[in-house]
Amino acid sequence: MNFELTEEQRMVQEQARRFAETEILPTLEEEEKNHIFVRERVRKMGELGFFGCCIPEEYGGNGMGFLESVLMTEQIAKVSPSWRLPFNMQNIGPALTVMEFGTEEQKRTYVPKWVSGEWIGFFAITEPNAGSDVAGMRTTAKDGGDHWILNGQKMWITNAPIGDVGLVYAYTDRDKKYQGMTCFIVDVKNTPGIETRAIETKLGLPCSPTGEIIFDDARIPKEAVLGKVGDGFKICMWMLNNTRLSCAAGALGVAGACLEAAIKYCNERSQFGQPIGKFQMIQAQIAEMVAEHEAAKLLVYQAAFLKDAKKPNQLQTSIAKYYASEVAVRAANEAMKIFGSYGFSTEYPIARFYRDVKSYQIVEGTSNVQKLIISSIALGYQPNR
Ligand SMILES: Cc1cc2nc3c(=O)[nH]c(=O)nc-3n(C[C@H](O)[C@H](O)[C@H](O)COP(=O)(O)OP(=O)(O)OC[C@H]3O[C@@H](n4cnc5c(N)ncnc54)[C@H](O)[C@@H]3O)c2cc1C
Repeated sequence: MNFELTEEQRMVQEQARRFAETEILPTLEEEEKNHIFVRERVRKMGELGFFGCCIPEEYGGNGMGFLESVLMTEQIAKVSPSWRLPFNMQNIGPALTVMEFGTEEQKRTYVPKWVSGEWIGFFAITEPNAGSDVAGMRTTAKDGGDHWILNGQKMWITNAPIGDVGLVYAYTDRDKKYQGMTCFIVDVKNTPGIETRAIETKLGLPCSPTGEIIFDDARIPKEAVLGKVGDGFKICMWMLNNTRLSCAAGALGVAGACLEAAIKYCNERSQFGQPIGKFQMIQAQIAEMVAEHEAAKLLVYQAAFLKDAKKPNQLQTSIAKYYASEVAVRAANEAMKIFGSYGFSTEYPIARFYRDVKSYQIVEGTSNVQKLIISSIALGYQPNR
């Protein structure tokens, strides 16, 4: 067993850290205050190869793997949880899924545009009445002869208000339930019958646009089907097993950022004539944060390693996502306590992490949903894929 990163992996990690500190941090406060999404930054990240992991070079990728993607995502999330989302929306969600299930033409048409950041990607599963219960979705696609007719409403979709092309899941035959769902590659901007609306009432992630997509007799070309008609549920579960690792990497980044900030503050802030880090109760908080962050890191990197080795990893991915999300929320909470009223101020990053971190327990399957996956594999009710 080797716990050392390679020289190349350390360079990738360092490049992402530098990008976050020089290209995101200087303007972040202003962007967060005004809910600004910098489209050009996605392009820049694409040019630097941030979205090329797990994608072969001939489709615009860089041949690196999940572990490198995780290392970059972690570093970006350490500065801005809003800006870790493009890893999922460009690469690990749409591009990688089209690489796995798409035709040669689909791969050549779509993947390089997502990887380069030229097109803003998204994936739309959730609906007003269907979140954890993916199969409860109502959106339908009816066969219209030489095209499909999409009707329904998607909600809480990252990038909905600004997205170009992404994946949309809908029922082509509701009676067949899990075998009646289909995945479509949808060009939102150039398809009549599609409307998007921003959700502007979010607790956190202010620089990551979220919204609704409404389909009203939207005509989708027949060749927009990804995989086979009826394969949608299978494709969706495959995709979520990848995107949730990226979410876990973001949570790990936030846990690390909270820990580093707390340690620095413990050595700077004095009360009762000594640095607060000298108080045993504070030391206990730091010790728990250190231990939990280290465990989360090993779990997240292990899941990435298993994916790169093409070994069964659903169990390890769900454990990593569940544990890292919970650890990140606890880390933000403990850091907030350690910072006292300065933590409560928006002048310090702790307030940002405290707000943003809750999203990790919800997206890509809630913590309860991860527990369902973990327990059903542990109990032998389903295999570890
Ligand atoms: C910032 C943000 C970005 C998002 N981006 C996207 C996106 O890009 N694409 C997309 O499709 N969706 C996206 N979502 C939606 C997200 O994936 C869903 O919110 C999530 O799957 C949970 O669904 P829900 O909110 O409807 O909660 P519900 O499913 O209604 O769950 C409510 C509560 O019940 C619990 N629960 C539900 N079922 C069970 C069960 N069987 N056993 C035990 N407990 C259960 C849940 O854990 C939760 O605590 C986003 C959400 C947010 C907040």
